[in-house]
Amino acid sequence: MLYIVSTPIGNLGDITFRAVETLKAVSLIACEDTRHTKILLDHYGIKTPTTSYFQHNEFSKGEMLLKVLKEGKGVALVTDAGTPGISDPGYKLIKLARENHVPITVIPGATALIAALSLSGLPSDSFIFEGFLPVKPKARRKKLEALTQEKRTFIFYESVHRIEKSLQDIRDVLSDPQVVIARELTKTFEEVITGKASDLLGRFAQKGIKGEMVLLFSLK
Ligand code: SAM
Repeated sequence: MLYIVSTPIGNLGDITFRAVETLKAVSLIACEDTRHTKILLDHYGIKTPTTSYFQHNEFSKGEMLLKVLKEGKGVALVTDAGTPGISDPGYKLIKLARENHVPITVIPGATALIAALSLSGLPSDSFIFEGFLPVKPKARRKKLEALTQEKRTFIFYESVHRIEKSLQDIRDVLSDPQVVIARELTKTFEEVITGKASDLLGRFAQKGIKGEMVLLFSLK
């Protein structure tokens, strides 16, 4: 059985009993970064062996993990934060296991987009999650241009290195809407910043911005 196990997005307390029990019981834990996951495993006294499974070894490691699964062993899949498969390399292993008729189950838990949406105060009855905006300026603007008629709440993952460029494009392409940045969720410096894209750009030009963040807005 392949167990897809959600892990915390910051606060180590945000893990379910079932996730801890599963991580203890399986034969192997496939991690995006074994050093990162070790912090969580040490915290809960989990001694299960780990192996790395990330974007650049997904083919060779995927086959190896498939062999272990076909021997009838339990393998847990975790990524650096949140729910495996949500904008991270996890989904490739899930796809491979499914194609090979390996039984799969999920131990659900934290995911940054849902935590951010519930905290944002934006309409949440209908929303659209777009992962990361394209890195290349032309592709990013084109993506935003395609969204102008959309009335659902937008959710994007964003990196500290690109947030200002994304806000500039959102300001220019989408007529400077109100945006929400939910950063460092569940961590010491958790913060929700709201304002027009242009206001936030002014603020960040003075004070900067750090950490992991989710960007949300609604054009309704
Ligand atoms: N699988 C993860 C999940 O379920 O949320 C997402 C993985 S994706 C590679 C990483 C992105 O998630 C970050 O760049 C950031 O946009 C968002 N993220 C992860 N942890 C976060 C946190 N504590 N606060 C805000 N955003 C976070």
